[in-house]
Amino acid sequence: MINAPRGIKDRIPPEEDQFLALVSIAEKHLGQAGFKKVGLPIFESASLFTRSIGVETDIVEKEMYLFEDKGGERFALRPEGTASLLRLAIQHHLIEPARITRLSYQGPMFRHERPQAGRLRQFHQVGAEILGTITPQDNIDLLVVIDSISRELKLPGTTLFINNMGCSRCRPVFRKALVEYLETHQSGLCTTCKKRTETNPLRVLDCKVEQCQPVIERAPSIIDFLCESSRLHHEAVCSGLRSLSIPFTVNPRLVRGLDYYTETTFEFVSDALGSQSTWAAGGQYDGLIGQLEGPDVPGAGFAIGVERLALLAEKAGTLMPAHSHTQDISILPLGELAVPIVQSLIREIRNEGISATGIFGTTKIKQGFKQAERDGSRFLLILGEDEMARREIVVKDLLTGEQTPFPLSPLAGLIGYIRSVRSQEKISQLS
Ligand SMILES: [Zn+2]
Ligand SMILES: [Zn+2]
Repeated sequence: MINAPRGIKDRIPPEEDQFLALVSIAEKHLGQAGFKKVGLPIFESASLFTRSIGVETDIVEKEMYLFEDKGGERFALRPEGTASLLRLAIQHHLIEPARITRLSYQGPMFRHERPQAGRLRQFHQVGAEILGTITPQDNIDLLVVIDSISRELKLPGTTLFINNMGCSRCRPVFRKALVEYLETHQSGLCTTCKKRTETNPLRVLDCKVEQCQPVIERAPSIIDFLCESSRLHHEAVCSGLRSLSIPFTVNPRLVRGLDYYTETTFEFVSDALGSQSTWAAGGQYDGLIGQLEGPDVPGAGFAIGVERLALLAEKAGTLMPAHSHTQDISILPLGELAVPIVQSLIREIRNEGISATGIFGTTKIKQGFKQAERDGSRFLLILGEDEMARREIVVKDLLTGEQTPFPLSPLAGLIGYIRSVRSQEKISQLS
């Protein structure tokens, strides 16, 4: 037997419906905030990610799915959406320096991570980017959108952490101070952090190894090194969030795993899943668009992890209910003569916007009931010789047990009945 690769989560019914419902809730909020959807490819030139995410990051060093095609070109399954979206926006001239462009995307991302709880090798993200001459208010708007999604889904135990990573002027000063500090505290660091001191010192602040925590706690804080404009940016974001009553905590250790962030970075973290888990994150990137040969303007964006969102929504009881009927009707013909009538009936019923399938493998009523249950149908329709003689069909409500005959032609009575029961079912689900 062949199983799915490690770190892949299959979605079986009704999970896929629930999953897609979450994606469309996120997309609804993005649409209301003026984001226009784009479709990104699953794979890109590998160099797109090495140039944007940074060579010394975990993603590029260890986690990318790389392959060579038959022409010898090197590609990567996309490990995240921002680089792809910027490539698309630059290629199609969607970025105008004096204006603001708002784009969103959704789809699977791929990272070869060590399989552990909550870490998938194929995971789904809904993301958004604001490109152009952006302001602190644009950063706030990104946070407002995520906050509104969180509120609609009543996500439990969520905290918003924000930080400011500085700009091209103040970040190097902080980096230098951090390296000096880390160099004098090497004995307190894990092997990875010792190496990171040289290659990617900011990532040390993100280390989860117990041994490193005392050193990290006393490390210099980026907030103390911010230049005047970065400090004003940071204060504008904080006061904007306060005036909108969106609670947040400033966390100067929040550096994110990617090289390109500048100024505001943020994470929405929930403790409802046992350990703390980040379900949405993002920030501003001043140099990235220019680095990818686009206009030299900043951008800011975020991505939401849909699998984590699903776990949290399930915890909150706001996942689309799984017990609702997934189909309206199953129809059982009893005997050869009934088969063609049932086939045309199915087509007519579907044309009325009602879901229906036929049960053609059996003429046993008991089997018919079992198949209707399997279909997730609310109604079983049975067409036997007696019914055909009376030009009727019997509709059995599998929830209440009620049986009602309806004329086969015209079908209006049957259709009206199904619709009215269905709308009542929807209402009772909502209440
Ligand atoms: Zn600065
Ligand atoms: Zn460490």
